[in-house]
Amino acid sequence: MARRKLVAGNWKMHGLAADLAEVVAIAEGSRTANCDVALCLPATLIERAVRAASGFAIGGQDVHQAGQGAHTGCISAAMLIDAGARHTIVGHSERRAAQGETDADVRAKAETALAAGLAVIVCVGESDAVREQGGAVETVSAQLDASLPASFPAGARFSVAYEPIWAIGTGKIPSTADIAEMHAALRGRLMAAFGETGSDIRILYGGSVKASNATDIFAVPDVDGALVGGASLKSADFLPIVEAASCVDE
Ligand code: PEP
Repeated sequence: MARRKLVAGNWKMHGLAADLAEVVAIAEGSRTANCDVALCLPATLIERAVRAASGFAIGGQDVHQAGQGAHTGCISAAMLIDAGARHTIVGHSERRAAQGETDADVRAKAETALAAGLAVIVCVGESDAVREQGGAVETVSAQLDASLPASFPAGARFSVAYEPIWAIGTGKIPSTADIAEMHAALRGRLMAAFGETGSDIRILYGGSVKASNATDIFAVPDVDGALVGGASLKSADFLPIVEAASCVDE
């Protein structure tokens, strides 16, 4: 089925007040895009970005599974919404690795964020060792099964991002055949979990997406957009990716 593409930027731990000009440039440049566009920013920039780029979708990069409480340094769904965020990433491989987030944590975070009304992007992906051993599809499918919310509240906005860990920030990407194989497998898992609703869920590709490879990646069946790290920091790098997504027939 036709799914409108989503191109989401992940600024990770980058971005100061001086970089708000790039947010504004990306928002302006995306105004006529034929796809959805969002930027997931450091928490410190969210409120200022929402003010600077009125109407543009700003998101966070993580959310705590609890509504509130003694969780020093964490951010709740209500805080993200209060700051003006509409989206959040959960389960990015950098958080799974550095903060020890498990699939169960990711599922709980996704459920909390969806219940609060945030659009959620759940990330999954294999290491290079798993890819080399030939177990990528099996491993990532199992990771997705264990990270999915049990159900969706009415009107939930939910996407999956397939991000091979070895492709993030490295300039390496899987072949389009490997991306197609993985996205088809993940589509199968989503349909198995949610029936027809699974065909509405966007599956983004993430890992070294750039202007030079975006058109080929967006042409792969079941690739419904991209999660973009490094190339989302500058409008000159990001807007051509948005343009590539806009040019693909839905
Ligand atoms: C990411 O970290 O989500 C990512 C895709 O990074 P990059 O585009 O820099 O590989």
